Amino acid sequence: MPAVLDEFIRQLPLYAPPLSRISQIQWEDLHTAADGEAFRIVASRPGCAAMMLTADIATCQLCLDELADSADRRYRYPFGNCTHCGPRLSIIRRLPYDRNQTSMAGFPLCPACEREYRNPADRRFHAQAIACPACGPRVWLEDGHGDMEAGRDPITVAAGLIRQGYIIAVKGLGGFNLVCDAGNQNAVLRLRDRKQRMAKPFAIMARDSAILAEYVQIDEQARQLLAGQSAPIVLLNKQGRALASAVAPHHLTLGCILPYTPLHHLLLQNLDAPIVFTSGNRGAEPQAVENGNARQSLAGLADYWLMHDRDIVIRLDDSVLQIMDGQPRLLRRSRGYAPLPMPLPPGFPAAAPILAMGAALKNTFCLLKDGQAILSPHIGDLENAETQSDYRRMLDWFQALFHFQPQHIAVDMHPGYLSTQFGREWAAKQGLPVTAVQHHHAHIAACMAEHGLPLESPPVLGVAMDGLGMGEAGQFWGGEFFEVDYRQYRRLAAFHPIAMPGGVQAIRQPWRNCYAHLQHYFDWPVLSRRYAGLDIMRFLDSRPLVILDTMLAKNLNSPVSSSCGRCLDAFAAALGVCAASIDYEAQAAIELEALAAPVFRQQKANAYRHENIGDSVLPLLGWRPFWQAMLNDLQRGVAKADIAARIHHGLANAIAETADGLADQIGCRIVILSGGVFQNRLLLEEVSRQLRSAGKIPLSPAGIPCHDGGLALGQGIIVAGRLAG
Ligand code: ZN
Ligand code: ZN
Ligand code: FE
Repeated sequence: MPAVLDEFIRQLPLYAPPLSRISQIQWEDLHTAADGEAFRIVASRPGCAAMMLTADIATCQLCLDELADSADRRYRYPFGNCTHCGPRLSIIRRLPYDRNQTSMAGFPLCPACEREYRNPADRRFHAQAIACPACGPRVWLEDGHGDMEAGRDPITVAAGLIRQGYIIAVKGLGGFNLVCDAGNQNAVLRLRDRKQRMAKPFAIMARDSAILAEYVQIDEQARQLLAGQSAPIVLLNKQGRALASAVAPHHLTLGCILPYTPLHHLLLQNLDAPIVFTSGNRGAEPQAVENGNARQSLAGLADYWLMHDRDIVIRLDDSVLQIMDGQPRLLRRSRGYAPLPMPLPPGFPAAAPILAMGAALKNTFCLLKDGQAILSPHIGDLENAETQSDYRRMLDWFQALFHFQPQHIAVDMHPGYLSTQFGREWAAKQGLPVTAVQHHHAHIAACMAEHGLPLESPPVLGVAMDGLGMGEAGQFWGGEFFEVDYRQYRRLAAFHPIAMPGGVQAIRQPWRNCYAHLQHYFDWPVLSRRYAGLDIMRFLDSRPLVILDTMLAKNLNSPVSSSCGRCLDAFAAALGVCAASIDYEAQAAIELEALAAPVFRQQKANAYRHENIGDSVLPLLGWRPFWQAMLNDLQRGVAKADIAARIHHGLANAIAETADGLADQIGCRIVILSGGVFQNRLLLEEVSRQLRSAGKIPLSPAGIPCHDGGLALGQGIIVAGRLAG
């Protein structure tokens, strides 16, 4: 008998179901009656749920086979799923994960499903979301005035409408999407116009990766990610045939995704070309999840609605990732990834529960409990009332779901973030201590935690290249070099702080940063005469420079910032890239990168040079010679793509050289690269490459976003570190 048990324990991990995660195996001898009961799964007791919950998983091959098998009872059924796949987080009202605690509670099992559910040998044994045409949810098509199904299959009809150029709202797994024919320029432009989304690229969905391969470059790694169980949007380089140009203007990449529910598979089955696949929302509002709300909020956006009657409990956007520096890196972490917990690094005690509130843009929050961190799904920009109430709802829901009672609140140092304000209010109401964490310290610490650096490891060099974050003494930071551990940081160097005339307006209008830089580094009247022929000079001359001069001279609404993101904005504007204004966050920097990428390699020898200024207390990276060389190149008529490449090389060299020197100075090999700017593939890869060849170990985020979407993990881990003493 013991031999059989040993064999059982040996085989347990080998034959574990695909979605199971074995964190530990423990055993003990039990002395029970020889002929004990048969194996059974006992009902879950409320309150005993651990911090484990599976993410929503793309339809598995076995379910796809049934979908295509005309003899199967789930043939062409849009809600088939099993223990290997299907909805999880998106349908859970409460834990433990039992059917009556999900939005499947209203669908009593038919006898056939009941048999599968109770049969330990069936792959639907205890599959909580099990469904079939006899007992499960159903799908229908609306035209805004109610059900328009006339005995025809609504999904086939919808596919036909897409081919005819209509825009369809499709209720998916975690929310509504808007879809249309991605080859139809008029349809795509109509969608842009209705959505009031002028420039931000749309993702595309295609039936299979063979169709995608006609439009983008797909290697084996990308193919596996696309077809993997998380089914994210993967950013891939355009190559080959072109779609409607309005899908992703001024972008080298296309966000690509494959069908991940039976409904999507059926919809795409009869479409031989990609469709635009974008979130179903108006402007900056969150994606619609509820049928009634979708009818209202998407009226005027969609021509038809493909609806179903399985409720979405919580909104889950599609996750986005890009392969950079050899690794898949999440740029948006939501469906398929949240809420999988991350173990805290070695040395962190299972401290008191901590709630970290996150940032203002691309918000996520984070729970730390029992030695684990759970990052919420992507919530979005806390700028409008709908997203703010989503944030509060998600916080309540997560707390209830995980029986989470925070003992400590972590917030950003920025007093204006809604997340900071809400965290402080909450802490005051509950009498909890609250800690304000510096933005870039949190960016670095999040990356350290992801890579499992132990609590008591020696300090490392942290490089935070970012848009904006609150620094000390009312300054905005975003181009910082720190000596850092989990508890504290010391600022070793930074980008030269330059004023942002107009504050928030300077973020939306890159020309303001351009002017502030030029005005700071040069004698403006001399400069504007010498380079009078340049487009950028004529453009700046058409702007209200006198007002800006007054603001700068009197220090009115012109906070200084050492941000790398603002630097990129200024450089982009000089090339005429988004000089007037941007339509979405970081657009200027993203388009500058797209301009540079095709000629990046060839321009290595022509990198612009920064200069080291500042003093021994705080060395600064200054940009006067950088600008001088750029203006001369513009004057000589050098191609803008070449100039964009020289800018990227110049910045990468400046960051890598500074980081390398400072790492030597503090005696560490590990260099953490984080902050939103490292979504820039050219910069991330070039800086990492140079650091590696200098014998350093560059680490950057992969499983969490490097931008503010990963910030909450850093906030939480820093507080946990400090509480550990
Ligand atoms: Zn399945
Ligand atoms: Zn059934
Ligand atoms: Fe940031």
